Amino acid sequence: MSKMEVKTSLLDNMIGVGDMVLLEPLSEDSFIENLRNRFDHNEIYTYIGSVVISMNPYRALPIYTPEKVEEYRNRNFYELSPHIYALADEAYRSLRDQDKDQCILITGESGAGKTEASKLVMSYVAAVCGKGQEVNKVKEQLLQSNPVLEAFGNAKTVRNDNSSRFGKYMDIEFDFKGDPLGGVISNYLLEKSRVVKQPRGERNFHVFYQLLSGASDDTLKKLKLDRDFSKYNYLSLDSAAVIGLDDAANFRTVKNAMQIVGFMEDEVQSVLQLVAAVLKLGNIEFKPESRSNGTDESRIKDKNDLKEMCELLGIEQSVLERAFSYRTVEAKQEKVSTTLNVAQAYYARDALAKNLYSRLFSWLVTRINESIKVSLKENRVDNSFEQFIINYCNEKLQQIFIELTLREEQEEYVREGIEWTNIEYFNNAIICDLIENHQNGILAMLDEECLRPGTVTDETFLDKLNTICAGHKHFESRQSKNSKFLTDHSLPHNCFRIQHYAGKVLYRAEGFVDKNNDLLYRDMSQAMYKAKHSLIKQLFPEGNPAKVNLKRPPTAGFQFKASVGTLMRNLQTKNPNYIRCIKPNDKKASHIFTDTLVCHQVRYLGLMENVRVRRAGYAFRQAYEPCLERYKMLCKRTWPHWKGPAREGVEVLMADLQVPADDFSYGRSKIFIRNPRTLFSLEERRRQ
Ligand code: ATP
Ligand code: MG
Repeated sequence: MSKMEVKTSLLDNMIGVGDMVLLEPLSEDSFIENLRNRFDHNEIYTYIGSVVISMNPYRALPIYTPEKVEEYRNRNFYELSPHIYALADEAYRSLRDQDKDQCILITGESGAGKTEASKLVMSYVAAVCGKGQEVNKVKEQLLQSNPVLEAFGNAKTVRNDNSSRFGKYMDIEFDFKGDPLGGVISNYLLEKSRVVKQPRGERNFHVFYQLLSGASDDTLKKLKLDRDFSKYNYLSLDSAAVIGLDDAANFRTVKNAMQIVGFMEDEVQSVLQLVAAVLKLGNIEFKPESRSNGTDESRIKDKNDLKEMCELLGIEQSVLERAFSYRTVEAKQEKVSTTLNVAQAYYARDALAKNLYSRLFSWLVTRINESIKVSLKENRVDNSFEQFIINYCNEKLQQIFIELTLREEQEEYVREGIEWTNIEYFNNAIICDLIENHQNGILAMLDEECLRPGTVTDETFLDKLNTICAGHKHFESRQSKNSKFLTDHSLPHNCFRIQHYAGKVLYRAEGFVDKNNDLLYRDMSQAMYKAKHSLIKQLFPEGNPAKVNLKRPPTAGFQFKASVGTLMRNLQTKNPNYIRCIKPNDKKASHIFTDTLVCHQVRYLGLMENVRVRRAGYAFRQAYEPCLERYKMLCKRTWPHWKGPAREGVEVLMADLQVPADDFSYGRSKIFIRNPRTLFSLEERRRQ
């Protein structure tokens, strides 16, 4: 640090206020005004104590250069103007120097900048940690896992041209010197329904378009593909080309990344064959054929796509054709085969496409992990269903945020014996309970419905919710027995509404049962297992006839709840760092700041409460020993060696430096400093 020139402190040359804790007067209006003022001057980062608020600028700012990295390297959090690098540096240094495990929680709505923030943190850490051939290889692999996962797991949506359609958690392990050893990625809830159908104005996963635009003629020929997007049923037509997205160039980036991560050439080919097979599969169509008994049976319209798909995957055509015609149900000792009608055949086709793709995605994650892993670690199960599940996950992340920042903060004052008045905050545990309670939570009821014999439909599921959740404060539905909502005509019959912490969300019950069941007919798994394509065989192990497992696989909801549980337990053991991303407008545009939109996000992210808790208390705290170590040079009586207990040393220091008495408090093990200015002045004096 000594070689760095003395920088002006946080308080000089500052646009607005860099730390909301110092905002005077504090109100929601002044909070938003401060964000706006800073945003207008390209200051997209603002602190609330150690929490970083990040506003999406929607354009490239020159603030991520190697010079910036150097500027923030090894500096104290409060010394320079707010930046995501300051948080990254702080987290990395506590990990390296104090051996404290860190986690960085990045939250915000779609398009707010979470993915970009995570990449910025990763690239910062990669830039400042050790060098050397081995370390560089590990770093490169960790960084290059991003383009691969984004190609297969991101898509253009209405809200974000590069929206992550899966949740990601990445663990990076460092050795004692602070060099990265490797990592483990966990993926959860890939939105697999997107493979077969996309909402208006949205696209399928990037990889399909990248492959068709970027692969050589020769590769496409081998994959039996046509360059024209419009030839494929699974690719939405209205929004295939996205301004600012160069699919062809990205294809090259992804292939290169796969190579760096350690995929062999034949693995890349296998993966592309599967991607091609999904496109072919979507083009298989069915027509009804009447039978003598008056029922309709499904027939494949044109067998060319089927034939090509089978060639790609090494499947005998008759085997797959049969799987598109019959469904076998095994009951006790008996096997009963029924023919599929057209609707069932389409269902079976789409189920296969979704399973193929999502299993390929999980395989990619597992494969990447093999390259980057340090040692074996448990890998979370993936797959689940959509928005409800995503919101459940967000609800849990919010709970962790509440627990770790607000509650912990208050509890620490009590523990340290420092005077404190409680601040009210909304605890969303009640909403988490509505969803996950193992007896009468929504997920439990959905499972019960799915596993119950007899006719199960989305309506019977909704009926059940209406009966059991009727009285819950955060649940509403039209048919709810709770008379309060009977008159709510804004609520359609087949829907229910949950008041999430971030706002009310309406859910259509349609598809819940089905998606939770995640049913792939056994005949399909068996057909896939018979393929002479080693990757596809590996993806459908349950198709092995020798391993007929009659036990039903766990439901999607069950698997997801378990993986969220594991994630939460994992996060609890680490020291949290927070990045709260905010999106300034709904137009994906730079230079536009929409007050109402920002205000909504500020509210549900709980940022005002966050500032109040911080203000009511102390901006900075440090254990006595490190505090004395750092500042003992400022006072003759403590320098160079203080003989007594550290706390007394700090008391001598404070008296000697004439820090005003109401600006700090002595806790049992730490000193608490109210105003960051006090800290800055200590830092300034150290450098003089
Ligand atoms: P989702 O939940 O949909 O995955 P997200 O929060 O991950 O959304 P990002 O994909 O990170 O959102 O950001 C959306 C877009 O906003 C990016 O593709 C990029 O164009 C822009 N963006 C975000 N952060 C920054 C930044 N720091 N600098 C420049 N542009 C940014
Ligand atoms: Mg994202």
